[in-house]
Amino acid sequence: MTRGSSTSRVSRWDGHGREHVVHVVRTGVQRTIRCETCGWRRGAQFLPWLKAEEHLAESHQATVDPTAPRQPSR
Ligand SMILES: [Zn+2]
Repeated sequence: MTRGSSTSRVSRWDGHGREHVVHVVRTGVQRTIRCETCGWRRGAQFLPWLKAEEHLAESHQATVDPTAPRQPSR
């Protein structure tokens, strides 16, 4: 269960099936979140993942979590 990295990422898909990734980099007590799509970055001390999700939703309309179980579409 050790992934051994202080960097994690939040990825979401938009309505066009494109993946947008925000990296969460930990530097000491601070965390910096950076969007791969548009280069947006900001420091977030608390809940960086929440901020990342907000950015993805607001700037890229990317709200689909690829790791979430998908509804079977029939
Ligand atoms: Zn972005």
